[in-house]
Amino acid sequence: MARRDVLVLGAGIVGTSIALHLAKRGVSVALVDKRGPGEETSYGNTGVLEGNTLFPHAFPANAALLKIALKLAPEANYHFAALPHIAPYLFAYRANSAPEKRMEFAEAMRPLFSRAVAEHEALMQESGSTRYLRKEGWIKLYRSESAFASNARELEVAGKYGLRYSVLDTDGTRALEPSLAPVFTRSIHWPEAATVSNPLMVTRSYAARFGTLAGVTLTGDARKLRKTADGWRIDTDEGALDVKEVVVALGPWSPDILEPLGIKLPLAVKRGYHRHYAPKGNAGLTRVIVDTENGYCLAPMEQGIRITTGAEFADRDAEPTPVQLDRLMPAAQGLFPLGDPVEAKPWMGSRPCFADSRPVIGRAPGQSGMWLAYGHAHWGLTLGPVTGRLVADMMTGTTPFCDPAPYRAERFGA
Ligand SMILES: Cc1cc2nc3c(=O)[nH]c(=O)nc-3n(C[C@H](O)[C@H](O)[C@H](O)COP(=O)(O)OP(=O)(O)OC[C@H]3O[C@@H](n4cnc5c(N)ncnc54)[C@H](O)[C@@H]3O)c2cc1C
Repeated sequence: MARRDVLVLGAGIVGTSIALHLAKRGVSVALVDKRGPGEETSYGNTGVLEGNTLFPHAFPANAALLKIALKLAPEANYHFAALPHIAPYLFAYRANSAPEKRMEFAEAMRPLFSRAVAEHEALMQESGSTRYLRKEGWIKLYRSESAFASNARELEVAGKYGLRYSVLDTDGTRALEPSLAPVFTRSIHWPEAATVSNPLMVTRSYAARFGTLAGVTLTGDARKLRKTADGWRIDTDEGALDVKEVVVALGPWSPDILEPLGIKLPLAVKRGYHRHYAPKGNAGLTRVIVDTENGYCLAPMEQGIRITTGAEFADRDAEPTPVQLDRLMPAAQGLFPLGDPVEAKPWMGSRPCFADSRPVIGRAPGQSGMWLAYGHAHWGLTLGPVTGRLVADMMTGTTPFCDPAPYRAERFGA
């Protein structure tokens, strides 16, 4: 029987970063996944490290909601069949979109967002993967003055936190990104965000670095986790493993092992799609572009220009329905010279989301020797390394670098 101090379940960016931070402190760690590191949600995202983020995505209001209900909106889609299960989440999400709740989120999450880019850069330096990092910020485009004006509160709060940004006109934006067509009136450049050109390779490089620190990566099904007299046991493809403590970092799959243990936290998923396109001629992008009114992003990746969609409210395991890509394509083609798609069909992933948009990071309620780190919503790539540091602080008895109370599972009354 193999023994380790800690088992980390889930080798997405969150679990891999936790495993690496623990290994750096001399803890003997096994990282278990049914697939290779970074191959699920952590593969398919937009690649933005959102150091600038203040507010969560708001529940759509009035006209936008009607357009979504009529299935006409590019920014969101939903499955009728899922509505009965996700209705409690949707109501709670709407309640959390009140101005004071959004401000609460900004305050609770600032300690994580403000360190996120630096934490990634440190891991990239030690894992030899800085070539994927671009510290050029990202740009949010506004086609109408009214859309731009809706950011007034965010800009005011950015000032309060000393976050840098530049408001640009069409020419100023095209000076930074000459391949964009002048179909927008304004943009905001947020230089304190960064982007990565291959999120999969970033997670893989952190996993490789974990291996050089005597970390062990195993293949196995997390649902085989069992409680023992003095810890936890899992049967992996490489044999049984006994550990003292376990960290659940299974992203959208975390409820699969938590609910049978009686830990029922109100996680929902916002599914999202991507597809790569070859740019036409010598067109290109230096940074991620958000077409705010159409709810999609253009991300320059090693594979091509990755178009990523907004949220689809559906059951995690329901068949993919990438209709948002069809709806947004006319706007995207009018904004950037997109050539042929690179893949035969789009990729789909599931953002693991709580209604208050905060992750759960901390001890599992009612299960000794179990820790939770999941529910990072739209920001799991951003927050993986900083979550790794926080979990390692808590598990090794170091004073946490920030107050972890806002991320406790108990906030749901568990
Ligand atoms: C379209 C889209 C765009 C996004 N853009 C961004 C962005 O620009 N910036 C950002 O910060 N975030 C972004 N996100 C969110 C981000 O990708 C996620 O929050 C993040 O990847 C979650 O990481 P994770 O490690 O928690 O989960 P995952 O990466 O999903 O990892 C979970 C792991 O658990 C494993 N697993 C599942 N079940 C089992 C089992 N039974 N046994 C063993 N292993 C199992 C899986 O194989 C997987 O490797 C985006 C998401 C989407 C969908």
